[in-house]
Amino acid sequence: MIVCRTKEELSNEVLNAKKQSKTIGFVPTMGALHKGHLTLVQNSVEENDITIVSIFVNPRQFNQTEDFEKYPRNHQDDANLLDEVKCDVVFIPIYNEVFNDESKLNVDLKGLENILEGEHRPGHFQGVVDVVHRLFVLVKPNRAYFGTKDYQQLMIINAMVKYCNVDVQIVECPIVREVDGMAMSSRNKRLSKIERENAVVISKAIFEANNLNENSTISYLKKFVWDKLNVNKYLTPEYVEICEQKTLKLCTADDCVDNKILLVAVWCGKVRLIDNILLNSK
Ligand code: AMP
Repeated sequence: MIVCRTKEELSNEVLNAKKQSKTIGFVPTMGALHKGHLTLVQNSVEENDITIVSIFVNPRQFNQTEDFEKYPRNHQDDANLLDEVKCDVVFIPIYNEVFNDESKLNVDLKGLENILEGEHRPGHFQGVVDVVHRLFVLVKPNRAYFGTKDYQQLMIINAMVKYCNVDVQIVECPIVREVDGMAMSSRNKRLSKIERENAVVISKAIFEANNLNENSTISYLKKFVWDKLNVNKYLTPEYVEICEQKTLKLCTADDCVDNKILLVAVWCGKVRLIDNILLNSK
C-alpha cells in the first residue's frame, strides 16, 4: 500500500490510474478505523480497480474544540488495517495540503444543513461538504463510499454532488454494529467501560421502537425512545426525530408519505453518539 502525505504524491497515483483507465474507489475517513470503515473499503476494493482512503480529521467540521482535540488518532494502526483489506493508496495529509486557501465552498443544501445534526452542530455540514469536495477534486473517484451511520451526511453529500455537478457515483453502505447492537464509531473508543455498557441502550431503544412502529404513532415512538435514553443516568438525549427517509422532512404527526427513519443523538458522558434505523413500513 502506498502512503501519500502530499497532494503531489496523491496526484501522481491518481494520474497513473487514470492513464491506465483504472476505476478509482474512494473512502474518506477521519481515521481511528474500525470494521464499519473497513466494510466501506472492502466494498470499494471489490468494485474498483484501485481504492484510495483518506485519513483527515477536518477541523472545519468540528464545532467543539474538545471533540476535535480528543478525536482518536492512530495512523500506524489505521495503515496496518487498510493494508490487510487490500487498500491501494492511503492519503494522510496535514491541514495545509487540503486547505491551502481560506475560501469556502458555497453550496445550496436546501436547508438540509440546518436540521438534526446541523441544528446542534452549527457549521458542521458546511465543513463536511468543503472537505469532501476538495478531496473529490484531488482523488477524482469514479465511486465514493459513505456509511448510513451518518445518514444526514450521506444526504448532504448527495445534494453537494448534484449541486456541483460532480461526476462521481455515491455508494451507500449499511451501518456495521458491534455484537450487542451498538453502532461502531471511532468515538466509542473514548467511552469508559461503564459508559460503553450503558451506551448499548441507544441501539436497543431504536430497535425496540422499530418493533413497536406498526402499532404506534410518531409522537409515541419519539417519546418512547427519549424516555428510554433519558432514564439512564449515563445518557442525555439531544434529539430523537422521525423523518421521511428520502427528504429528511420531519414527521410531526402521521403525515409522512415516504418510508420513515428514526434518528438520535445522545451524549454519553463527554462523548456525543449518533444512531439511526429505517422503520419498518406500516
Ligand atoms: P468517519 O471516519 O467517522 O468520518 O467515517 C467515515 C465513513 O465511514 C463515513 O462515511 C461513515 O458514515 C462511515 N462509517 C462510520 N462508522 C460506520 C459504521 N458503524 N458502519 C458503516 N459505516 C460507518
